[in-house]
Amino acid sequence: MIQAGDPVLRRVADEITIGSIGSAETAALIEDLRVSLTEKPGVGIAAPQIGVSSRVVVIQDPAAFQAGIDPERLAQLERVPVEQYVLINPELEMVGGETRTFFEGCLSVDGYRALVRRSYRVRVRYLDPGGNHHEEVVCGWHARILQHEVDHLNGTLYIDRMSSRSFMSDEHYEYWAHEPTEVVSRVFGA
Ligand code: ZN
Repeated sequence: MIQAGDPVLRRVADEITIGSIGSAETAALIEDLRVSLTEKPGVGIAAPQIGVSSRVVVIQDPAAFQAGIDPERLAQLERVPVEQYVLINPELEMVGGETRTFFEGCLSVDGYRALVRRSYRVRVRYLDPGGNHHEEVVCGWHARILQHEVDHLNGTLYIDRMSSRSFMSDEHYEYWAHEPTEVVSRVFGA
């Protein structure tokens, strides 16, 4: 996984042209993304993270990932299972003014977490690998994943949006993850 410091993570990625949807090249990129996401594993990956400046994202949050997490915590995060799917040229629109602040990490900023405020609800428009248009409104953790991944396509990392005083190693996060966001914010002045 490409780490922060590589300029590819700071570029605005190129749209996939209509003509190249369904091409062998696009299919290979999607396959590489799926494999990388499964290997890590993570809940989302964007093409720039494997060095390709194209607007393709793969997202997943299967029930198996949530199996070990306290149900109360899952409810707080509003995290529900999401089957793996591919988004080509995704466009996001924030819906309503509601936000949520939770810890976030990134496969390209390995080993760290921080609190990030995100829109609670988003409308997403994208093409699937077959070139079909989709539009849906999603909320909660799924909406957070989408915002994080589409940010990657625009050269933005969560560290650009984080409350920097809450930035911490994964080791410390293991402890603070169990505390309500309000408590963490108070302790760190974040
Ligand atoms: Zn990321």
